[in-house]
This record gives sequence, structure tokens and C-alpha cells, in this order.
Amino acid sequence: MGGDGSDDASARVRPPSIDALARRLATAVDIPHALLVDCSRRAVAAGGSTDEIVHRAHQLVGDLATALIGPVLNATGVLLHTNLGRAPYPATGAGSASTLEFDRSSGGRGSRHRSVSELIRVLTGAEAAIVVNNNAAAVLLVLAALADGRGVAVSRGESVEIGGGFRIPEVMERSGARLVDVGTTNRTRVEDYRRAVDDPRSDIALILKVHPSNFTVEGFTEQATVDGLADLGVPVVADVGSGLLDATAPWLGGALSPLPSWISAEPAVRQSLDAGASLITFSGDKLLGGPQCGIIAGRRDLVDICGRHPLMRALRPGGHAIAPLQEVLLAYLRRDVASTVPFWAMVTRSVASLTERAEAVVAAVGRGRIVTSSSLVGAGSAPGTALPSVAVALEGDVAGALRLGDPPVIARVEDGRTLLDLRSLPPDHDGALVDAVRALGR
Ligand SMILES: *Cc1c(COP(=O)(O)O)cnc(C)c1O
Repeated sequence: MGGDGSDDASARVRPPSIDALARRLATAVDIPHALLVDCSRRAVAAGGSTDEIVHRAHQLVGDLATALIGPVLNATGVLLHTNLGRAPYPATGAGSASTLEFDRSSGGRGSRHRSVSELIRVLTGAEAAIVVNNNAAAVLLVLAALADGRGVAVSRGESVEIGGGFRIPEVMERSGARLVDVGTTNRTRVEDYRRAVDDPRSDIALILKVHPSNFTVEGFTEQATVDGLADLGVPVVADVGSGLLDATAPWLGGALSPLPSWISAEPAVRQSLDAGASLITFSGDKLLGGPQCGIIAGRRDLVDICGRHPLMRALRPGGHAIAPLQEVLLAYLRRDVASTVPFWAMVTRSVASLTERAEAVVAAVGRGRIVTSSSLVGAGSAPGTALPSVAVALEGDVAGALRLGDPPVIARVEDGRTLLDLRSLPPDHDGALVDAVRALGR
């Protein structure tokens, strides 16, 4: 402030009190008072006229409110949407104590891996399994526990990057194992692996087969299969990624017949073990349809070595992941995934049932047209696979307004229309979808 009378001016435009501003904001949003005070303080600190300050405070509060994680209606048609939390899964046990690491028969300490290990054994034929925070952690732990300071043979065609920054050469480096490239980008044969394994300088501890989940290579290509590598004298670890437990999908009980090729041709846990893999690593929240976690399954002696490694303590998930994972695995064993595991419910919905729902939505909102659509599996799984679907098409691009609505609807825009794809949306969200579209006005 100078001595030119601006003291007078600042008295006239005295900023609103922080408290009054926070109370005013409270009428617009339902977030804790302390956050409203923080936004008010920042708005006042930025200066300007009262109107500008109030406007900025509203903006800050709005930004904060939309940044809070919350439920949305997934009308994108992408069943496993990485930005929307991948697989939705049945919630269990929140707020209650559990037997996570408690042995009820002895009253002493138990293992958090035991129940999941038993269920995966029955579902896949693996001798044992342990759970970590995600599949990236599973691969890291396997390499650190079984190949620290030694060589790991990987085909040049499988030295891939998957999703946000999971890159095989970098994970390898962090694990303490040494990457030994074999073959070429497009063709790698059993002989290429054999040469590496037989070369003492390579000191190969294991072979890592990585499923290139999110892309396909066409043309003059060849990759060795697990069964061709199983008797080279070192364990074969197959990172299958997707978490398809069995390529014959017995848990669907024929609900999809014939099985689409994106299921039957996907490398699955049981078939990879049958082919001779010693360990399999996979995600819990892709085709398995469970919470975010990673699973290491296979030979008991190798699983135990991974479980005893010091990194295990840093990578172990909590009951918030293990309890719902157990719930999903029980559903597989009961063979009722089509009604109890949201991902498989989405996959098995008939086009006729989707059409019926679309008709009801259009009738209720009094606008929109019913169009055929293509859903995607998502999460980098089954790239290029389109699942027949049905959408309600609204004229124009209203995706932004839907996103900021209450409840938020995430839609996609194609050819100047906004598509609300019903395959990715649980039927019990249809009512909320109708409300959200009505709230758009016209
Ligand atoms: C998805 C995937 C990963 C990473 O799994 P996250 O659970 O996302 O950590 C690793 N390898 C393969 C083959 C995958 O498909």
C-alpha cells in the first residue's frame, strides 16, 4: 500500500470475512467446513473485488468437490475402464473386524493368503498362491525373489510396456535381476531360449513369458509357447496379465455359448499351468472381475520363496482387497459369476435385454434414439474385441454436462452425438441415468 489514499480505498473494498464466505459456500456444496475455510482463505488471498473473490471461492470449492473420488455411472461401453477403477466388484465386510490374519482353530496368528490360496488351487490346479497389491508388484516380487543378481530370459517380442508405465526392462532392473534378451521382435523360437539357458555366462534363473495384453502383432511372427519351454531346466514364469482363470470358463455354466474367442484364445491360468509353467502372475481387477490386486500362483516351493521375501511386507494388500477377492473366487466356485460378479454380468447381458432397457430410458426421458453400439472389454485386455451393445444416443455433445451432473454420468461422443452405452451400466443404475438426463434440461 502506498501513502496515496489507497488505505481509504482498501477500507471501502474490505474483503468479505473468511468465515462469512465459508458459510455462504456451505449453502452450495456439502463438504466439510474446514475445506470451505481453506478455499475462502485462498480466494481472499488472491485479492480483487468482492465479486471476484466470491466467484473464485466458488470455483475453488467446485474444483475440490469434483476432485473427490466418488461413484459414477459408467455409460462409456468400456467394461473395465482403467480411469473408472477397472472392474467394479462386490463390496464386503467394510467396517467390521475380520479373520484376515487370525487362525480361528488355534486362536493364534494365521496367514492372510491361506483362503485365497485354497480357492485358487481348486479353480486352477495351482499348488499355492499369494496376493500382492497389483500384477506389477507380482512380477517385481517374483523377479526379486527368484532371480536377484541372475539372468531372466525374455523374448524381444515380449519386452513390452503395459498400461501406465509398466515396462518389462525397467521392472527387471528394479528387481535386481538381469534381462537376457532372446530371439527377435517378431520371431522367437524355443532354440533361442535354449541357447540362453545353456550359456553359463547368462546364468539364467528363469524364463519370463509376458502376454502382450494390449496390442497384437501381425504378419511374419512366431513366439515359443509355454509347453515348448517347460523342459529347458529352469522355471517358466508366465505373466498372463488378464486373470482369466480357465479358458473354458466353466463358471459361466454355458451362459455364453459358443464361447467368444477373446475368452477361449486368451492365455489362462489353468491352461498355462497345465502347459508346464511353474508360476503365473495376473491382475485381480481385469478379467477376474475383482478388486485391485496381483496374484502369484503355481509351484508351492516357489510361491513360498516369494512369500518369505522382504519385499512381500511392502507389497501385501489389506483386507479391503483380500476379502472381496475371496468373495469373487467363491462366486467362481459356485458358478454364479454371471449374476454376482459385475464384470461377468456385463459380459453376459443379452442385446435383447439391453434394447429393452434402452427403450425404457428413452420413454422415461422423452428424448434420444436407440442405436447399436460396440462395447470394449478395456483395461488393455482383449484389444480389438468389440462386444455388441445398445446405446441411447442424445443429439450433440452433452458429455461434459453429464460428467459434472449429480450423479455424474461418463458417456462417449461419436459423430456429434452423445452415446449412453448400456452394457457397461448395471441395470439398477438406469433410474439414476434417467434422472441425470432429465436434469440436463433441453
Ligand atoms: C495388466 C498387466 C500388467 C500390470 O498389471 P497391474 O495389475 O495393472 O499392475 C502386467 N503384465 C501384464 C501382461 C498385464 O496384462
